[in-house]
Amino acid sequence: MASCGKGRSGQKGRGAALKKLMGTAASLLVLLAAVLGLTVTNGGKLPTWEQLYALFGVSELMPQLPEQAQNAATKIHFIDVGQGDAVLIEQDGCFALIDAGERDAAETLVAYLRAAGVDRLTLLVMTHPHTDHIGGMRAVLDAFPVDAVLLPDFTKAPMPATSTFTKLLEAVAEKRIPAETACTGDTFAVGSGTLTVLGDGIETENLNDLSLVTMFEAPGLRYFSSGDGEKPVERAVLDSGAGVRADLYKAAHHGSSTSNTRELLETVRPRAVVISCGKDNSYGHPHREAMETFGEVGASVFRTDECGTVIVYVDDAGAMQVAVTNKEAA
Ligand SMILES: [Zn+2]
Repeated sequence: MASCGKGRSGQKGRGAALKKLMGTAASLLVLLAAVLGLTVTNGGKLPTWEQLYALFGVSELMPQLPEQAQNAATKIHFIDVGQGDAVLIEQDGCFALIDAGERDAAETLVAYLRAAGVDRLTLLVMTHPHTDHIGGMRAVLDAFPVDAVLLPDFTKAPMPATSTFTKLLEAVAEKRIPAETACTGDTFAVGSGTLTVLGDGIETENLNDLSLVTMFEAPGLRYFSSGDGEKPVERAVLDSGAGVRADLYKAAHHGSSTSNTRELLETVRPRAVVISCGKDNSYGHPHREAMETFGEVGASVFRTDECGTVIVYVDDAGAMQVAVTNKEAA
């Protein structure tokens, strides 16, 4: 096995150290040039982190797709926003965003969306009103035109009283964005693909169970997602007889054992599962029981805390493929 370079000394070691130092100095010079350039563009104001991220950071955070796949018509981006959900559906150059992570990840999220080529959102979906799903939504609304917002049915649970939530609804109203309460059976076009509401939450005290259950369908891909819906939500969608078979499944509730029942997974039979969760999160997500269930149904599992951002796309031959930021983790 090749040496990792530790403990090298003498001429070779000093040469490597000098090279590294020069590399760092060169990077700093490039950064300084970018800051100065953006300052001029901004009319004398220093650039925001979002602008710098857009220039440098996000290109590294974005999984590299093979050249022939860069223009793939269908891409599902599971954006690494730490402990939370933000999933961008890209179809034929049209975009829908399901949830928007916590507020502290909003700058990264907006920069990622720009880097992914988003200039407007056909649809912005709120699965349920917890902050790890809506914290970044205000920033998204401020950054991009949004054609429509899809909301869960707030008559089924006590109305959330958080300021993040109330300010978000105020922003939607102020910007005069059409907002619709989801109903089971509703369909929305995203390019040539279709997002269908399979479940519109249940009567509950538990806001997780307000979560919308959706299926996105495009040639070569069916993607099932249920926000943070727990066992009663999964039971309800199975009882409804909706077609839940899918190639791709977003682990519900960040891979919690309160969701992801064997009955559901055996019916969905996904080939790939993506878990959106933060590194060393305090909830212990994903839970062992859920990981076991994903293994039992034979799905490949990709975790954003290990893989970074995950992009699932359909290649030229019509096959589902996966690209991740940290290739060693996949
Ligand atoms: Zn959540």
